[in-house]
Amino acid sequence: MKALVLEAQGRLAQKECSVRQPDPDELLVKTEAATICTSDLNDIKHNSFGIRFPMIMGHEGAGVVVAVGKNVTGFNIGDRIAAHPVMPCGTCSNCLRGLPHLCGNMKHLGINLEGVFAEYFCIRADRARKIPNTMDYDVASLMEPVSVCIEALERANVKKDGTVLIIGDGPFGIIMTRLLRVYNPGRVILTGRHSFRLAMAGNAETIHERETADVSEKVYQLTNGEGVDSAVLCVGTGQAVNTAITCLKARGTLSVFSAVMPMPAIDLFRVHVKELNLCGSCNDENYLDRALELLDKRELGLKDMITHRIPFDNWEKAFELAEKGKDEALKVTLTFT
Ligand SMILES: [Zn+2]
Ligand SMILES: [Zn+2]
Repeated sequence: MKALVLEAQGRLAQKECSVRQPDPDELLVKTEAATICTSDLNDIKHNSFGIRFPMIMGHEGAGVVVAVGKNVTGFNIGDRIAAHPVMPCGTCSNCLRGLPHLCGNMKHLGINLEGVFAEYFCIRADRARKIPNTMDYDVASLMEPVSVCIEALERANVKKDGTVLIIGDGPFGIIMTRLLRVYNPGRVILTGRHSFRLAMAGNAETIHERETADVSEKVYQLTNGEGVDSAVLCVGTGQAVNTAITCLKARGTLSVFSAVMPMPAIDLFRVHVKELNLCGSCNDENYLDRALELLDKRELGLKDMITHRIPFDNWEKAFELAEKGKDEALKVTLTFT
């Protein structure tokens, strides 16, 4: 099969690889759609998770089952499925206390398991979900990004009629503004630096950072001087952390979804006097079914998150768009025929 292999830091190449037969608890899937994630771009560039080369990349995938491991029940050849890339061990202390997404022995497609940027991939059956007949594979490949966005919003303690600030107009920030419709908040504000992406925010009010002298002041203007109840950090800068801390109301919550590098100086005095809650959100607490349900809600328009569908053989163009096309692309999906 053809596959995209990370051969060294910064070097992704199309290679011919053998198709692995599924383990007893796995499915072998013929890939139909595989979507590029911001974290793939980071992994290729920085290899922060210590990927051992060579590794087939990619973790947002969907396809059709072509072989079923001998211990698997509930799946058959021909089933259309979406894959979730995180494999918790089920036996470590985090798994046992109900936090499998923070498993200490986690396996992850595209990091320490062969990923979905290939004509075939294997997935543990408990991490796959059958998708509705009416759902396209490209949409289904968004099951995991939507799951992690749900986690970020849940951790941000989003409340009905509350005010929510999403900082960052990357794919995750935009998906969150769309998902927020089901939480019925009073007001959603998205800040970012790209007109094209800000325009995809659905019903959210937007602040263009390049055209705004003081983002926090603008947030206070939009909220009649009150600030916001919840904030989600979808960009990894210290400045964004402090914008959130400035804009939160007393007892507000900041959900740190992005990895912030380098370590920022944080205004903990404000955290103290406003009794803010700072929390992280990473992976997701098993929101696979919920994510598919929301992907199937046409009114959220999550299908529109995919701006480009590009044949697998043109992968170089796809990666360039995902990396540099901030004024024309959001999610870029590789398609297979
Ligand atoms: Zn991802
Ligand atoms: Zn575990």
